[in-house]
Amino acid sequence: MRIITERDLIRDVAKQWREQYQRYMPSYQILAGLAGKTVGEIQAKLDALDVETATPEDVKAIVGNYRKTILECHECGNRCKQVVSFDVDDDSTCELCFDCLIDALMLINGFTPSCSEEE
Ligand SMILES: [Zn+2]
Repeated sequence: MRIITERDLIRDVAKQWREQYQRYMPSYQILAGLAGKTVGEIQAKLDALDVETATPEDVKAIVGNYRKTILECHECGNRCKQVVSFDVDDDSTCELCFDCLIDALMLINGFTPSCSEEE
């Protein structure tokens, strides 16, 4: 398990964009919500982004949406600044906000963790 923050996602946006559009020509024009912007122009803006201070709004201004900077809790569905991510299997994870993790601890309060019991 590991903590993932909104900042982690912002730091990764340019790399994610590059991987998503690696088969497109830099001059290819993106249509959905970004009419007139090319793959190369957007990549250059993402590469120039100060990822230590940029906000999700800054990323949205470049790529047209919040998809690459959204963290949502899989339990309550709320948008969060940070989550704890658990590996479910090789291909999927479960992300939980800190409030839901505290709720889980309250739920098990008074119970002995069965994982640590000797058989
Ligand atoms: Zn939650």
